[in-house]
Amino acid sequence: MSKKIFLCAISNISSGHCLEDCKFCTQSVKHGADIERYYHKPVETIVEEAKRARARKAVGFCLVTAGRGVDEKTLRFVCEAAEAVKKEVDGLGLIACNGTATTEQLRILKDHGVDSYNHNLETSEAFYPNICTTHGWRERYETCENVKKAGLKLCTGGIFGLGERPEDRLSMLESIRFLDPDSVPLNFFHPNPALPLEGETLPPEEALAWIRTAREVLGDRRIMVAGGREITFGEEDYRIFEAGADAIVIGNYLTTKGKDPMRDHAMLARHGYEIAKSCHER
Ligand code: SF4
Repeated sequence: MSKKIFLCAISNISSGHCLEDCKFCTQSVKHGADIERYYHKPVETIVEEAKRARARKAVGFCLVTAGRGVDEKTLRFVCEAAEAVKKEVDGLGLIACNGTATTEQLRILKDHGVDSYNHNLETSEAFYPNICTTHGWRERYETCENVKKAGLKLCTGGIFGLGERPEDRLSMLESIRFLDPDSVPLNFFHPNPALPLEGETLPPEEALAWIRTAREVLGDRRIMVAGGREITFGEEDYRIFEAGADAIVIGNYLTTKGKDPMRDHAMLARHGYEIAKSCHER
């Protein structure tokens, strides 16, 4: 039986107004990156994007808002968007990604149709102060714990190439394993001239080695290669599946362009991979 690959699409439903200072993120207002900024994407547009994602074989659809965490307004907006997508589109697991959240807020999201919550640890606890000074790593870890308490599936991962040491990468993977998530997005830093970070795009062989390490550390949890796939692996991105990944993001990312999903379908078929038909498959 061929290996099944899960496709997930993301929608940036509130973009670019974040007051935090994460050095790798173009959505922080502090860095002045040249990106599109808006408060609330119209719900009809979000539903159209979800329909398009499903037609392109995505089984996961992620509603992302920029900002430190969930406030009343964000909670209402994400609940409204989630309900609308669930009503109009069959077969999509819904993920919300809205920053720090309490167990109670996460339960409310669940009650409105959200299946899973994404909150990345990003890097190790020790390295985190080098990439963000406005909030701490513990806060992120606690939100991941809250996700599980609320009965949602947890999606947590991180980013490589911020200047962290190999021991930071290992420490992050161990912390992720300890949280026992359902899915682990691995991102590879995509440099932008506005960002105050001397990060690097990892050489492909090094990035593949870290996917292999992540597979060893994380057992059978789903490993998704997310942002940076294009810039890191180019046309050799099929190699990420041999290394241990079993999911990818299709279409555009939050503020960078992705590959054409049709190209990704063809790449998967050419290398003998099957596209998962449901997010519940193993
Ligand atoms: S909190 Fe999230 S949106 Fe805000 S700067 Fe950090 S990574 Fe970007």
